[in-house]
Amino acid sequence: MPLRSIEGINAKITAGEITVCTASEFCNMVRAHEEVAEVDVVTSGTKGIMSGTYATLSFRATAPNVFETAQMAWLNDVPAFVGPCPNERLGLLDLMVYGTAVSRSDTKYGGGHLFRDIVKGNDIDFEVLTTMGQLIKGQTNLQDMQFARLSATRNVFKNYNAFVNPNDGCVKSIFSVTCLEGPYKEATFSGCGELNPLEKDPQLETIGVGTKALLNGAIGFVTGTGTRSSAQKPNLSGYAPLKGMNPRYVGGFNTSAGPDVFCSWAIPIPILNTSILESVSRTDDRIPLPIVDVNGRTPLGYARYSDVWQREYGRIRFSNNECVSCEECQVAENCPTAAFTPNKGIDHKECVRCGACVSSCPHGALKGDLGAIDLNGLQIPVTLRQSDRSNADKLTRELKKRIEQGEFLLSTPVQRIKLQ
Ligand code: SF4
Ligand code: SF4
Repeated sequence: MPLRSIEGINAKITAGEITVCTASEFCNMVRAHEEVAEVDVVTSGTKGIMSGTYATLSFRATAPNVFETAQMAWLNDVPAFVGPCPNERLGLLDLMVYGTAVSRSDTKYGGGHLFRDIVKGNDIDFEVLTTMGQLIKGQTNLQDMQFARLSATRNVFKNYNAFVNPNDGCVKSIFSVTCLEGPYKEATFSGCGELNPLEKDPQLETIGVGTKALLNGAIGFVTGTGTRSSAQKPNLSGYAPLKGMNPRYVGGFNTSAGPDVFCSWAIPIPILNTSILESVSRTDDRIPLPIVDVNGRTPLGYARYSDVWQREYGRIRFSNNECVSCEECQVAENCPTAAFTPNKGIDHKECVRCGACVSSCPHGALKGDLGAIDLNGLQIPVTLRQSDRSNADKLTRELKKRIEQGEFLLSTPVQRIKLQ
């Protein structure tokens, strides 16, 4: 293969001579034994639950000198931390909101739902409790925010796990939307398999501190590894402004342990040498999916991402003819993004293709093939996907288009990330 550099790739982007493939297109070429040596850049991506996400927001709450300090604030009833910069005397609020924070009035609305509402440009109700006991209320929105940034402390995991419950009973956790039925009745999993950025560049030869990427559709940067990152199971930290994000890629996801947050990343992988070429060529059938016990995360075995993704992973379908209009619709109750109502069916703008509805409907009105994992000869059906590969793929296509149109040049990392 030709030797490449980031500078050379950027010169080809500027000249309109770049060859870019999405990770999905590239892997399809590998499966078809087509020539891939001419590809300069592969756009990798992932979308799924990424609990380590928070927002830093700053906006005007009052005129100056109305109050001195705030002790607590809420946005759409979701608790926010005030500070660290004490600007309240100026009438300005600096706030930090966790993606996993839960509304005090609605246990199915959390930080992730709030981020999506902010990105949509919706008006957001705020309340501030001052240290003098005053309660100040008002409204703000993204346009009025002088600063709005989403930060990742633990995102872009190098794929993840499948979870099963080997015991009798049903276990509630963030890895299910109702509970995980045992023994071995069902499995849930996360990870976008062959699309995943850290699967395409496992030694972090090209992804480093300062790598430019798309976070939820906005241009952002990688800042390093994230919390609990290890050489075996790395993840990344980074940030991007909320302005410029697309609500399709960020939002809340209700689990049986409360609301969580999902995010999406697309990261360009320049094919600089044969080692990177080999990594980006890894297809789902070569990527292990560890199976662990949800009770204590004890490893039980391995499946492959091809068991769960090499099938139709597009939309889950609703068959209106088979819906019997139950008094209480279990699908509407269990849908983690409130994308389903029996009279309207699936709102595809809100749906994350998790498939929880397929097993939730006792009358088979929801259709979709989620696959099964093989654990020592036992076929365990998948009932929940906590990653949305269809929209991860879409974000990789967006990044490809931006590169091809000369709107996105690759950055040279300012420092290599050491995995340890
Ligand atoms: S549970 Fe199924 S059949 Fe019943 S109302 Fe919901 S979608 Fe229709
Ligand atoms: S796949 Fe079903 S349960 Fe999941 S978000 Fe879409 S409608 Fe809701």
